[in-house]
Amino acid sequence: MKIAFLDRDGTIIKDYPDERWTAIHSPEFVKGAVNTLKTVISKDYEIIIITNQYIIHEGFITFGQYEEVTAKMLKELTKQQVQVLDIFYCPHGRNEGCDCLKPRDGMIRMALEKYPEINLKESFIVGDSRADVELAANLNIRGFGIRIDYRGKNIETLNDITELPDYL
Ligand SMILES: [Mg+2]
Ligand SMILES: [Zn+2]
Repeated sequence: MKIAFLDRDGTIIKDYPDERWTAIHSPEFVKGAVNTLKTVISKDYEIIIITNQYIIHEGFITFGQYEEVTAKMLKELTKQQVQVLDIFYCPHGRNEGCDCLKPRDGMIRMALEKYPEINLKESFIVGDSRADVELAANLNIRGFGIRIDYRGKNIETLNDITELPDYL
């Protein structure tokens, strides 16, 4: 099983400065993201979302608010026939030293434990933060950074998410 590990905020749905998240209860999709996900699925990838949510620990949003936004996003994706296999999130603060905050690999390890049939070498990570591409680089798998200038083996830079299928 090959997996497209996608970041959530700024990759599938819009991201905001931390303090603006406090007022956000409904996700807005990044332009072209839903169609891109459909294409990715048509190329036999399963979708797993991995998302840093330190804004929970740091008090900008509640856990309930995280769940509310995620549920609304999933509902819309399901409506559009985009099936998400799973979501892993890191709720810890940036200074807590957990192993799941990207670019640490805890969320990928949790995914591998839950789905041992994942072929990591055939999988990739895409996101709009340096942490996303650094995670791919740490694992030595393909990575795509959206408007991230990062030079590394198997790492590509995209101007936006809709360029992703060209590489698959
Ligand atoms: Mg992001
Ligand atoms: Zn964590």
